[in-house]
Amino acid sequence: MRVAIIHNNEEKSQNVTAQLRELLKQNSGIEVVERDPELVITVGGDGTLLSAFHRYSHRLDSVRFLGVHTGHLGFYTDWRDYELQELVDGLCSDRDKSVSYPLLDVQLSYADGRKKHFLAMNESTIRRGSRTMVGDVYIKDELFETFRGDGLSISTPTGSTAYNKSVGGAVVHPSFNAIQLTEIASLNNRVFRTLGSPIIIGAEEWVEIRLRSDGHHLVTIDQLDLSDEKIASVSYKVAKERIHFASLRHMHFWHRVKDAFIRED
Ligand code: NAP
Repeated sequence: MRVAIIHNNEEKSQNVTAQLRELLKQNSGIEVVERDPELVITVGGDGTLLSAFHRYSHRLDSVRFLGVHTGHLGFYTDWRDYELQELVDGLCSDRDKSVSYPLLDVQLSYADGRKKHFLAMNESTIRRGSRTMVGDVYIKDELFETFRGDGLSISTPTGSTAYNKSVGGAVVHPSFNAIQLTEIASLNNRVFRTLGSPIIIGAEEWVEIRLRSDGHHLVTIDQLDLSDEKIASVSYKVAKERIHFASLRHMHFWHRVKDAFIRED
């Protein structure tokens, strides 16, 4: 098995990476590589796994991911630094087991006809800096509402615990093949009206935001920021690609949510 290790710059992550590399080397069936891995192990936080996803997003059908966290328990990083031996033993005995999660397909269309395509693992947002963003929200080619406000966030189920949660979106179990549209500070008064609550969109549907406001709009795709005055519309749907995680043991999603947001010890 060809394994790549991606870590963040924290001292603890570097030490854990060195230990992991040593343990992996002791197994003749495992080769630590940089190019064309079958498994990518990240050491750090959820942010580290997000960057690894974008680095290998062109090979999602042949690569699995696994995250070791060196800070607090993460949503993508559920192995702890003291479980490295168990992790390596698990890799040797359970080489192919995986669990997959939905991704967000993002298509940007520019006024001059250009199009750009991206995949997001957490979310994409559209904003207009400090000015009010105005956009017509279409669901499956039908005008649903005209949004006015700070912006919109469209998240995956696994991204629902990230920015989406901070702007009032629901936490969604990753077994749902769906995306969530959440408003960011909408203007609602006697003149302007939006639904005012998050909506969940299934895999057979899509959402298109046709921008009405002028000037630069900022579109984020996980950690990437794109700012352009020529963005005309952005379309979102559940991607046909999925991210695969090595599944060496079962992790209860709601236990993880409780651990991350509620448990006080
Ligand atoms: P960052 O600003 O350095 O960190 C944002 C925080 O979000 C980190 O604590 C990160 O966890 C956590 N996080 C990332 N993905 C998550 C997920 N799926 N569920 C729960 N928490 C998650 O940015 P970053 O590390 O590069 O990550 C980019 C992501 O940060 C964006 O996709 C966005 O979702 C999120 N973000 C959230 C807010 C907000 O909530 N107001 C603002 C900006 C960005 P780790 O510490 O484990 O890395």
